[in-house]
Amino acid sequence: MSKLAEIIQRCQGLFEDLRFDAVRQWKAAAPGRKAIGYMPIYVPREIIHAAGMLPVGIFGGGDQLEVIQGDAYYQSYICRIPRSTLELGLTGRLDCLDGMLFPSICDVIRNLSGMWQILFKDKYVRYFDVPQEYHDAVGGEYYVHELETLRDDLAKVGGRTITDDDLRKSIAVHNENRRAVRDLYDYRSQKPWQAPTSEVYLVLRAGNVLPPEEHTELVRDYIAAAEAEKRPKRDNARVVVTGSFCEQPPLGLIKSIEMAGCYIVDDDYMLVQRWLLDDVPGEGNPLENLSKAFLHRSASTASKYDERREDKGKFLVESVKKNAAEGVIFAAASFCDPALLERPMLLEVLAKHKIPYTAFKYAENTGQMAPIREQTGTFADSIKLWSAA
Ligand code: SF4
Repeated sequence: MSKLAEIIQRCQGLFEDLRFDAVRQWKAAAPGRKAIGYMPIYVPREIIHAAGMLPVGIFGGGDQLEVIQGDAYYQSYICRIPRSTLELGLTGRLDCLDGMLFPSICDVIRNLSGMWQILFKDKYVRYFDVPQEYHDAVGGEYYVHELETLRDDLAKVGGRTITDDDLRKSIAVHNENRRAVRDLYDYRSQKPWQAPTSEVYLVLRAGNVLPPEEHTELVRDYIAAAEAEKRPKRDNARVVVTGSFCEQPPLGLIKSIEMAGCYIVDDDYMLVQRWLLDDVPGEGNPLENLSKAFLHRSASTASKYDERREDKGKFLVESVKKNAAEGVIFAAASFCDPALLERPMLLEVLAKHKIPYTAFKYAENTGQMAPIREQTGTFADSIKLWSAA
């Protein structure tokens, strides 16, 4: 088996393991180890890591999990990720976690954090709020306070103090991880035939359960292994996928987009690893540095407030330009309010910039790929025809 095949097989195994054995093994390797789960889109994993704990991304149940109990907690007209996450919790699959963070994304996640507090009383549960105002003296002050509270809470859970030096070391570890992921995204953008997104996605998903140091090494190994394997270059349409920042599409859907003749050159699948756009400074107050990075140098997505109307869509258009994309695919989870409410505004901006787009919805357990493949294939063909005209 080639090195590349080995890496992908390992990542696929981690992706499919809904019992989170990698987390259980990490905890069992030393006494007293703790793991804290988090949901999309972003939490400061540095603070969990500085507490000596493992940050664990919980991104729903995918298409292999049968949701039975989780459905009883929610009406049918909402997305699937809160229901499958509940199913994971209620069936004991998440009992390896000592706590759970629910980032401020939407009302559904907010409600889920409340349910979690009632259902799992012995675990640490926190609704992690983020600022929607971007001045250091206002939103920043609020956010630093939130970060301090999280640090102090985790210190209590772990039974140890978290010093500024602990935080600085963890920031350095996560800077390395973000750098590796940025390099991977740049590599895919340059040579998407060498690093298909169906693989890149699995490599990123491994970062949900591996310690960041190990994940950084894995990402670097993947880039080297992908470069070593010569693969045919096709005349595919280069597209940016947007709207998939929370509930994740099934892997089959990503493969369908690629098989329909598209190279995905940017996406918002696993934003947690790319949320902060540059290195966080290692000197000075670490929590203030994390706050400034969030306020001034973080990715844009539907659940993040844009202060100025004219900034809406700017991040997406910049991604299209930077990655020489020829079109945009809006792929949002069914009933995802943030993504679907933002969509008309983004479409308006794309139309203004004459950037072709197509749009569809999915659920994490969508099984019927034929309509998506046909729609995406037609989109890719039309891009190629237009560009040839
Ligand atoms: S998929 Fe959308 S609506 Fe559902 S929990 Fe995530 S952000 Fe909220």
